[in-house]
Amino acid sequence: MFVYDSGIRLTVADLAIDTRRRQARAFISHAHSDHIARHDYVLCTAPTAALMEHRLGKKRMVHVMEPGVPIDWAGVTLTALPAGHCLGAAMLHVQADGRSLLYTGDFKLSPSATVPAAQPVQAETLIMESTFGTPDYRMPPHAEVLGQLGDLLRRILEAEAVPVIEAYSLGKGQEITRRLHDLGHAVVQHPRVWDISKIYESFGVHLGRYRQWDGTIEPGEVAVVPPRCRLDIPRRRQVRIAVTGWAAEPAAKYRLGVAHALPLSDHADYDELLEMVERVEPRVVYCTHGSEEFVHRLQELGWNARPLGRPAQRRLF
Ligand SMILES: [Zn+2]
Repeated sequence: MFVYDSGIRLTVADLAIDTRRRQARAFISHAHSDHIARHDYVLCTAPTAALMEHRLGKKRMVHVMEPGVPIDWAGVTLTALPAGHCLGAAMLHVQADGRSLLYTGDFKLSPSATVPAAQPVQAETLIMESTFGTPDYRMPPHAEVLGQLGDLLRRILEAEAVPVIEAYSLGKGQEITRRLHDLGHAVVQHPRVWDISKIYESFGVHLGRYRQWDGTIEPGEVAVVPPRCRLDIPRRRQVRIAVTGWAAEPAAKYRLGVAHALPLSDHADYDELLEMVERVEPRVVYCTHGSEEFVHRLQELGWNARPLGRPAQRRLF
């Protein structure tokens, strides 16, 4: 039904999936840079099309998929399903000749403040990301982490320093902006985050009170910037905070070069990865983007699990 050759290709539909090399026809699960390329013809959701156009420039030929609405593609039924993760992120459900496959792309099962949670369905074959596929990556409850963030911001602001939160410009930047708004903080966004926030708002996602960085910062404001992005604020001390799933590892802040790291993830954590497999009940599961350890764990639990492709180099964001 599919082949893997430095990327996934659905053989039944002659369709590449999340391939970084240019293709004639490709499904794009979401607009993070490691999932997009300048394909000739793209299948994706409307928000992903808008984000891709923003990132790659120039409109391309797109077949917009409405989440939950099946389409017929070369005799195969394709359905995009919400994946959580970021605006527009979709899993792909494929049905052909009584067989079925679910490709997750990056996903998150637990609720976020800005996008609907992933909605898996049963499938014979499951291809899933397994980024946080070891028990070290069990994320604490959101409320607990947000409580820590609130305390930390209060201390930083009381010391008259500027809290600068490092968050990926697509997804985490908007999620943390909304969470900060809910905690009662005004947000100043780096232009790269702000551009994407405007696209979120054009699709009806409310992010609360925020403005674009104009070289100034008012007392009480919290800055949100892409990772390792400098902000020139004369005569003010900056305290850098990373919000990332990698922060589940105690030493993460040293590797990330920040003062504090808090575990807020837009990926499924270890328990959610296991839950995904239980909900899909596949005959075979292929794991991408993760360690072999997760594959072995699934095998121990009785699943027919296999790694797909080389284990990806570990990314920090
Ligand atoms: Zn992603």
